[in-house]
Amino acid sequence: MTRVLVNGALGRMGKSVVQAVLAEDGLALVGAVDIHEAEDAGLAAGAGKAGVPVETDLAAALDERKPEVMIDFTRPDAVYDNVMTALSHKVSPVVGTTGLSAAQREEIRKAAEREQTPAFIAPNFAIGAVLLMMLSEQAAKYMPDVEIIELHHDHKLDAPSGTAAQTAERIAKVRKAHHQGHPDEQEKEGWEGARGADYEGMHVHSVRLPGFVASQEVIFGGLGQTLTLRHDTTSRESFMPGVMLAAKKVRGLKGLTVGLDQLLD
Ligand code: NAD
Repeated sequence: MTRVLVNGALGRMGKSVVQAVLAEDGLALVGAVDIHEAEDAGLAAGAGKAGVPVETDLAAALDERKPEVMIDFTRPDAVYDNVMTALSHKVSPVVGTTGLSAAQREEIRKAAEREQTPAFIAPNFAIGAVLLMMLSEQAAKYMPDVEIIELHHDHKLDAPSGTAAQTAERIAKVRKAHHQGHPDEQEKEGWEGARGADYEGMHVHSVRLPGFVASQEVIFGGLGQTLTLRHDTTSRESFMPGVMLAAKKVRGLKGLTVGLDQLLD
């Protein structure tokens, strides 16, 4: 049994994770944390009584509840401190919260090595999104003109999405860096930002609307043809098998591992 604490237990993802951990063989829910208290994490998640309260002091909960793994779905401005607190308690973080910078990830890598406590980060736990990233990397070798459109619900705080950022980084590794579009296009941008963000010459667009959960399109353009790869998350259930897999496997990893594809056989 792997002992799990869920951080952000009262959030949209946190509640789904509490439900999933309670139903998963091999995982035991031993702690739950959020910025608000609740009498029982299971009841708050609509999963029946779990006998685990939702507490507000992460460090105290780690000391008292003694989890081996902390699953974090909180906020972009809180996740770094949460991860560092977990590692200092020799608890392995499994991080779904997006918005960590490259510099913060590097600090997490160093802390995981220093504390000899493995850590895992996935910008997207849905298998379809992981395949979208893998296929995009393949396609970009042959069709290097590419734009990314990511579409999320309007409560999302960060942009671009973690998935879009990881997709762009992976494409940039295989794509010959070059400017896309007309060489003089910068002179004609009627509204600032109309062409989206620029990452190594690729454009990235973030759509925020009610009705979406998480979607992403990667559009490749070539002479006389376009190729569109698209993934849609229609329910948060899509993330749970990946989160459960990471919670079970993280203690067997070394240092920091990034991306669900690293765990797939
Ligand atoms: P949410 O706002 O519904 O939930 C966040 C929860 O965290 C809230 O209950 C909030 O009170 C709590 N919280 C905030 N600060 C905290 C702190 N310092 N300590 C403990 N709890 C704190 O958000 P959500 O939709 O559940 O998403 C959470 C994060 O997960 C976002 O960054 C989102 O982009 C990311 N996400 C990642 C994936 C993935 O596959 N990696 C999938 C979906 C969402």
